[in-house]
This record gives sequence, C-alpha cells and structure tokens, in this order.
Amino acid sequence: MTQRIGVVGGGLMGSGIAEVCARSGRDVIVVEANAPAAEAARARIEKSLRRAAERGKVDDPDSVLGRIRFATELDDLADRELVIEAIVENEEVKVDLFSKLDKIVQPGAILASNTSSIPIMKLAVVTQRPQQVLGIHFFNPVPVLKLVELVPSLMTAEETTASARAFVEEGLGKQAILCQDRAGFVVNALLIPFILSAIRMMESGFATAEDIDHGLVLGAAHPQGPLALADLIGLDTTKAVAESLYEEFKEPLYAPPPLLARMVSAGLLGRKTGRGFYTYD
Ligand code: NAD
Repeated sequence: MTQRIGVVGGGLMGSGIAEVCARSGRDVIVVEANAPAAEAARARIEKSLRRAAERGKVDDPDSVLGRIRFATELDDLADRELVIEAIVENEEVKVDLFSKLDKIVQPGAILASNTSSIPIMKLAVVTQRPQQVLGIHFFNPVPVLKLVELVPSLMTAEETTASARAFVEEGLGKQAILCQDRAGFVVNALLIPFILSAIRMMESGFATAEDIDHGLVLGAAHPQGPLALADLIGLDTTKAVAESLYEEFKEPLYAPPPLLARMVSAGLLGRKTGRGFYTYD
C-alpha cells in the first residue's frame, strides 16, 4: 500500500490531508509556497493533533508530527508514490503545478488534486501520465469527515482509481464515492446552490443569518446552517467553486451573489480570517 505521500499546499485542507496520512502511519512531505507558510502549516497540524490527543483520538501526537516533513521545494517530492495537491483553487496555478510535478515525481506515481471544481482533465493533459492523474476530494475538516470523492478523468486508468480507493478506504479509514469529472462532483453540485440561496435570502433582507441557520439546524436537522458552513469552507473557496459551476453549467442558481463577492473583496473569508457571516475569536 502507498506509503510515501506528498501534499502540496498546507492550508486548511492540505494540513488536514497531511495529518490524516501521518496518523495512518504514512511518511508525509508537505510543500508550501514559502517558509512562513510552511511554519503556519506545521503549527496548524500541531494544534489539530493536540486537540485530537485531548479527545483521546491520537495516542502520541509528537510521533505523528515526526512523520511529516515541511518543505518549500517541489524537488523534495521526487520519491513520493502519491502526491495530493491542495493549493489555491485557481486553474492556471494548478495547471502550472501539475506540469512541474510531472517532471519531478517518479514515473508511475499518482498525481491527485483535491480541487473542488476544476476539471481533472485540465490537470491530466499537461502531464505525460494522464492515466495516473485523478481527483481525490476530501471534506473539511479532513480529520473528522469520512467522505472522499474519487474523480477519474476520461483518461484515468482503472488501476489508478482502484489504488486511490484502497488508499483512502483501507489506508485512511475513509469512505469513497465515485464521481464523474464534472464541476462540483456530487456533493458541491448540490451544496453550493443551497449555500448561495441562503446568501441571497439574507442579502434580500428576507431573514437574518442566525435565523436562516437556526431554521435549517432545527427544522431540517442539519448539523450546522448554510451560512455557518460557508464560513467554515471559506467564502473565497465558496465563491471560486460557484464560479466554476456557473462556468460549466451556465445556470443562474450557481452564480455567486453580489454580497458574497463583496465579502471576499473585503477579506471577510469566514473562520480563517476571523470574520465572515459570523465573527470568530
Ligand atoms: P487555503 O487557502 O487554506 O490553502 C491553500 C494553501 O496553498 C495556502 O497555504 C498557500 O500558501 C498554499 N499554496 C498556494 N500556492 C502554492 C504553491 N504554488 N505551492 C505550494 N503551496 C501553495 O485553501 P484550502 O481551503 O485548503 O483549499 C485548497 C484546495 O482544496 C482548493 O483546491 C479547494 O478548492 C480544495 N477544497 C477546499 C475545501 C474547503 O472546505 N475549504 C474542501 C475540499 C476541497
């Protein structure tokens, strides 16, 4: 089973992916854009591991952290068997990364993207190994949520999908669903229009953020309301996913409402910046 894992991008998702891989005993290298970002990724994982240890989910957080190396050069990923990309949701930047990774990472290794909405095919075709490129889409918070969407492109080999499934299910203890390479896959194609509708409802003055969220929690048994969930996902990511869905399907229900665009321009990105629809400490 795949042992040597690379993760590119140690933000919200990349740090969670690195953490679950290390918790499963894998050897992990996280590559970040620069040294301060790499240090922030390390601190994020350390904090999460400490919290998991307090809840009795991790026995020895230090040894888990010891299995993760933090780097700033892609060259450090040369010997990885699987590299999972979790950088910013920007097609141009991801395409550039995949073409670089293809030249660095050993032939035969799988290159995966955690993208929420960018077609896997666009990343596959810039490599010499499109049959070994697929989407492995985790959910936030990665250490907690069980689901992983596996997204083969038209060119992904069956063995690649099978190997990725074995890795996430037997290796990480997650559950995989198989999705077509279409913007939003299964979960976001349903979830994002729901969140956008909640934002439009609040924007129009129809109801407050608190009342919308209480309504869905108490009336539909959702664990949290759509606006609190948008804050957790990150409003920049929510907007980027909505734009990709809109571009692919041209349906008004996927168009980001003006309030979302303004909040992103203002840097009100949700939990990660301390303020979105709600304020956080
Ligand atoms: P984030 O902004 O928290 O993290 C992105 C990280 O990538 C940052 O730390 C940044 O420094 C780093 N980075 C940017 N360019 C880089 C480069 N060239 N090399 C190395 N590192 C680089 O974003 P996130 O929420 O973790 O999202 C990452 C990816 O995961 C996106 O594709 C997003 O669509 C996807 N995703 C997000 C969620 C979510 O709930 N936030 C869920 C599933 C998938």
